[in-house]
Amino acid sequence: MKQPYLWPPSIRAAFCFTIDVDAESPQLWRSRNQPSLSMNELEQRCYGLREGIWHLLEALQRYAVRATCFVPVHEAETRPWLLEALAAANHEIGLHGVLHEVVSELSRDQFAEIVEKGLETVVRMTGFRPLGFRSPAWEMTPWAFEILQRAGLLYDSSLSGYDHPYSLGHIIEIPVQWPLDDAVFFRYAGTGADRWPPRATSETARSWLEICTGIERFGGSAVTTVHPWLTGRSGRIALAEALLEHARTTEGLWICTAGELAAYHARSANSGLFRESGIIPDRPPALL
Ligand SMILES: [Zn+2]
Repeated sequence: MKQPYLWPPSIRAAFCFTIDVDAESPQLWRSRNQPSLSMNELEQRCYGLREGIWHLLEALQRYAVRATCFVPVHEAETRPWLLEALAAANHEIGLHGVLHEVVSELSRDQFAEIVEKGLETVVRMTGFRPLGFRSPAWEMTPWAFEILQRAGLLYDSSLSGYDHPYSLGHIIEIPVQWPLDDAVFFRYAGTGADRWPPRATSETARSWLEICTGIERFGGSAVTTVHPWLTGRSGRIALAEALLEHARTTEGLWICTAGELAAYHARSANSGLFRESGIIPDRPPALL
């Protein structure tokens, strides 16, 4: 039998509500070599920091839940009120690149500079030093963990190797999973490249609650990821509310931030029990 994750007495599982606070930076990064004049996706994304974030913040306040917000430097710099509003509501702020760069497309030096710029921005604007990083598009490389550790970060939250926190190379991993990311269900750019229409909010909420319940049943940590431009839409805020209602009414569930979860992992016996190398294995020799 697998060693169960060890929780404090009276806790049997954990729940985190995380927000990737992207507006236009993913689109700007994607089109960096060939700037685009398309307004459709741009305006959808900007909605997130005009309206969507306020819907999410209001719901979080109503349920008295602290979220973990991963914010690109570009969004923080272009909306000087943003980090202040998140910090004033007592949410955790984590790093999410400068222009939502995909880590595997960067050099080590570029990534180190981006991490430093993120730390400097959050400290300057809030007075708090971030503990964690979430990789845009959830892509990581083995060396990126080393750079995060050297920068003094405690955790990354981009990969899916367990259903609970684990140590990965030099860093603690707070695992996510695609079926608990709203981009999979709601992202619809309307450029003709979409492969399916956006899913119904009620159907998505039902599916997410099934997954959270499954993770909690096996003593894991359910880490949900929403975006202000997707779940923050007026017509979809019911997904956030369903999750918060679930978290508030489930017994034995620790509602925590990703930083609190990482700090717990670091000081508990779990940090020795769940430890992976973070090394990509050599390609095996060809059979023929
Ligand atoms: Zn993002």
